[in-house]
Amino acid sequence: MLSDATSSSLDPFSAGFGMPLDVHALAERRRQETQSRVAEINSLLSALEEAATEADPPSFSPETPAAPRPVDNRYNKLIQVRLGIASGLYTALQHKHPTTASHSLRVALGCSAWALYKRLDDDTRDVIEAASLLHDVGKISIPDTLLNKRSRLTLDEHSIVETHWEAGIHILSCCCSAPRVLDAVRYAGRRFDGIGSDSSVGGDDLPLESRMIAIVDAFDRMTSDPSCGPLSTREEALQSLRAGAGSLFDPILVSQFVELLENDHELLTHQVAGRWLNELGRKQCDLPWPLHDDAEQPSVAVIEEADPKSLFEQQLIDSMHDGVIFVDEFKNIFMWSKGAERLTGVSSTAAAGRQFTPALLDMCNTAGRRIKDEACPVSRALASIAQLRQRLEILGRQGEHVAIDLHAIPVLSPEGELRGATVLLQDAQSEASLEEKCDALHDEVTKDPMTKVANRAEFDRMLALFIEAHQQASLPCSLIMSDIDHFKSINDTFGHQAGDDAIITVANLLKTMCRSGDLVARYGGEEFAVLCADCTMADAAARADQIRKKLSETPHASLGTRKLTSSFGVAQLQPGDTPETLLRRSDEALLQAKQQGRNQVVQLGMNAPRPSNQKKKWWNFGMFAAPPLIEAKLATEVPINVAIEKLRGFVTDHKAKIISTREKRVELEMSSEQLGNYRRQGDRPAVYRIELEFSEERRKKSNTFGLAAGTYAQTIAEVTIRPKRHRNRRRDDQRDRAKLILQSLKGYLMASDVEVAEEKSQPALGAH
Ligand code: GH3
Ligand code: MG
Ligand code: MG
Repeated sequence: MLSDATSSSLDPFSAGFGMPLDVHALAERRRQETQSRVAEINSLLSALEEAATEADPPSFSPETPAAPRPVDNRYNKLIQVRLGIASGLYTALQHKHPTTASHSLRVALGCSAWALYKRLDDDTRDVIEAASLLHDVGKISIPDTLLNKRSRLTLDEHSIVETHWEAGIHILSCCCSAPRVLDAVRYAGRRFDGIGSDSSVGGDDLPLESRMIAIVDAFDRMTSDPSCGPLSTREEALQSLRAGAGSLFDPILVSQFVELLENDHELLTHQVAGRWLNELGRKQCDLPWPLHDDAEQPSVAVIEEADPKSLFEQQLIDSMHDGVIFVDEFKNIFMWSKGAERLTGVSSTAAAGRQFTPALLDMCNTAGRRIKDEACPVSRALASIAQLRQRLEILGRQGEHVAIDLHAIPVLSPEGELRGATVLLQDAQSEASLEEKCDALHDEVTKDPMTKVANRAEFDRMLALFIEAHQQASLPCSLIMSDIDHFKSINDTFGHQAGDDAIITVANLLKTMCRSGDLVARYGGEEFAVLCADCTMADAAARADQIRKKLSETPHASLGTRKLTSSFGVAQLQPGDTPETLLRRSDEALLQAKQQGRNQVVQLGMNAPRPSNQKKKWWNFGMFAAPPLIEAKLATEVPINVAIEKLRGFVTDHKAKIISTREKRVELEMSSEQLGNYRRQGDRPAVYRIELEFSEERRKKSNTFGLAAGTYAQTIAEVTIRPKRHRNRRRDDQRDRAKLILQSLKGYLMASDVEVAEEKSQPALGAH
């Protein structure tokens, strides 16, 4: 797994064939190789960590390469926990010869698994792990040229390399107070039969740890260390071990090791990983060397406490999706959880000991403005000793700003002294995007896409609420209706796009000139409505006049020198008003403004003149019914019950609604949508009220010679058609539709006109 194809090229003596030696290139290659080796070691440790947490743990086996991981001091901490101050020796080895450091780590993991398999006690495992990690530390004393030599070592060279055992013991004895570890290393290089060493120690007299390390060491060199010649397969290596059993290696242990590898060693890996990562909270005195004081890196997440509670707390914090940060009262960071790393991309090592400032995370408010130090929520929470929560944006690990909710909670001692704060960083990205989606959806439903002011549906909804709220609070409110003057000619002269631009300009002007609490809506086409909250008619009219003036002075890029004007109608909410009646009054005021010459504001009080042609009938729903578009008297030569039967056909086919029936009177409501092909593109469907009053007459029938031939029944239907909504300024259109309704009705009733009265066309009403 940790093959090293480049190591040979580092030997300056074999660097080229007569080529000048490029020291810089060599140094660079050396540096790269060191980096890649360090990454390998860290990836091995990462694999360890995964093994401890995942169901299907990766093997430490040389045949299972681990993906390179970024260097993370957290993993080096593992080594430190294993070795205490001697971890410095391991680090030195890592720098001297990364290949050997990798090999030592693999041997340590292998021995640890084996010790577990053999159910060795914890002390023995501690010794074997430490001794494995350091069994080759003496290589620090061996020249690089030999360590990195690709070709086979000469006998002399080999004997120089072999001095590493002695050197290792010398180095270790300077800092190691654990004789078992020293002995384990001292005898790890010995043959089992004792041949070739100064002392005749061999066989079972060799420490168990040494005999085990010798086997795992040899296996790893054969399978993973290219500096020891061509790599063997696992089977070949096991074969070599068997061949050396009794001479080089303890034969019983060789068969045990073979058995171990043939068994479920993945499970063992998992358990070893668990031991290495999760049982680090044991008392330091259990270790061969004490841990050195690591006060300078207080935030690193490996558990240093003997207290199992801390172990649980730390693991809980690290498993949290939210980022958890602890700062002292000076905002110095002393805990930075994995969640915080994930959210910010800042590692715990990088954050440790630094001050929690907005600059650390490039903190911005939701408007994208940088947060100043004094506005930092953590500083404010510490200053006020009060919890604080704020939506912010920070630079995320992808290098882009992400939305987070920062929650700063001051922490006090039992005596009430401020000790610092817990800072929670919650990922608000999904929430923010959900909010954005909801906003977008809301806008789609409530806003006019072109002008971005409220659309007609939203206006209708708000008008009712607005009236209700003002009536309840007994506050005045007013409605301004506005319609751009001669807009058709704008389109005709400058084109539809210029017309659109002009509509947008007017909408923006209305928005900027209205107050908060007001609502600007596009009522349709070039018509706008402004709901003026807490506003009398006089004030609303004054504001409408300001808007009118401003508009008449505003230049429009797409209209050249042509200025736009608009007419305005204003009405104030009166007691008993409904949305319909308030709208109608302001509409009538607008109509008057148009009739009086446009570009002006007309206000209409409660006693405004009503249209005079409104015929008072029983079915006139209140005094505010729209005036009829058509009144007709029809005759059909069938009895009344047959006529009513025929009317049913009309009702069904036109999806009309029966609003009321009384004696021989029927009131219907139907949409112009039911008029089939009549509807022109861009027309908004409108709803019409149709009132019918039936009566029956008996008529004498004459024959062709003028003589009476008998009597028959004839039904007279008095029909009134009016728009449901009172909109004077579209009446030409409405009248056309009303005529169509009447025509259809006549067809169903098989009726002919007796008398038809049509509302007269009013040319001044918006037809330009
Ligand atoms: P008046 O002064 O009487 O209001 O005259 P006018 O020309 O404005 O008359 P009217 O209200 O009948 O006509 C409005 C025109 O506005 C008709 C339609 O073609 C145009 N219009 C409606 N909606 C839009 C739009 O979204 N964009 C453009 N460019 N024109 C529109
Ligand atoms: Mg109009
Ligand atoms: Mg107009």
